[in-house]
Amino acid sequence: LAHIMQLPNIIVIGRGLKDKVVEVALTASGGEPVLIVTGKTAYNIYGRSISEAIGERTDVEVHLVEAEISQELETIHTILSKKRFGTVIGIGGGKVIDVSKASAHEASLRFVSVPTVASHDGIASPMVSAMDSSQPYSRMVNMPFAIVADIDVIEKAPHRYLASGCGDLVAKYTAIKDWKLSHKVTGEYFGDYAASLAYMGAEIIFRNAKKIGKRKQDSIRTVVEALISAGVAMGIAGSSRPCSGSEHLISHALGRLMEDPPLHGERCGVSTIFAAFVHKAAWKRVKSALSSIGTPSNLSELGIDEQTFVKAVLMAPDIRPDRYTILHKLRLTESDVRRLLREAELS
Ligand SMILES: [Zn+2]
Repeated sequence: LAHIMQLPNIIVIGRGLKDKVVEVALTASGGEPVLIVTGKTAYNIYGRSISEAIGERTDVEVHLVEAEISQELETIHTILSKKRFGTVIGIGGGKVIDVSKASAHEASLRFVSVPTVASHDGIASPMVSAMDSSQPYSRMVNMPFAIVADIDVIEKAPHRYLASGCGDLVAKYTAIKDWKLSHKVTGEYFGDYAASLAYMGAEIIFRNAKKIGKRKQDSIRTVVEALISAGVAMGIAGSSRPCSGSEHLISHALGRLMEDPPLHGERCGVSTIFAAFVHKAAWKRVKSALSSIGTPSNLSELGIDEQTFVKAVLMAPDIRPDRYTILHKLRLTESDVRRLLREAELS
């Protein structure tokens, strides 16, 4: 059986990288026109001068993401079908990266990811989040051709986003436990290298939590590097397995149940405490890291009532019946979940 690994061609992390974005964009496009997909704020603080510089060398079109994701996908699809483009560049946060990555994939174009916030591992992964309720979890697409992460821009975003990125990283702690469990029970492929790489992302957050909470020099870069490594781990594994287990299923369920859900990584962080408790793992380590970082570490900080969280845990195994986790093994009852929430000091 062939195992296909996808890796990015270029990864640039550093400061003052506008010129680098231009250079990478031109490399990716091979001289063909460039489509920049961005948000209003990202465009104003970062994208405008990049698009002007690209415009001196080749045709460039800018599309501002303002509507619902499904509508945006259609609009970008139309833009890409009307003219020949060499590459799609996504400059912005989660929604922009998702919609531009998905569009580039569908048009078989190279994708350049230029995140302006570090709120989850989608900045460098071959995955896109749920676009509608027919598939409430992420799906696999092509790996970004390049990732350019400018710390000067990322560090200016509100702390909440970086903290959410840390929540998505501690999730690797339980994701790996679920993957190993599934390997044992179902015989599913387990990749030790991909698992170790993803696990390092969680470990780095545990070790640096206090520094990140104080936003110490270099700690932001550490988080960004860990998020990119997590994306690469998915490329190596050929699935989101190393980065997404029972905690992500709970987070996806919460996203479905709530009208205005907290950020992906915030949901994942709290769900990881729960999943770690269920795995009889070091849940206190997860909890104290999240609280040092200054991101929710219990239900009330997350703004979720107990009933909704209970529902999400019960729903989680059915979100992906094919992805075996501890929740599939245990099939918890409502009273189990309520008891566990108390014992894990979440409720
Ligand atoms: Zn995630």
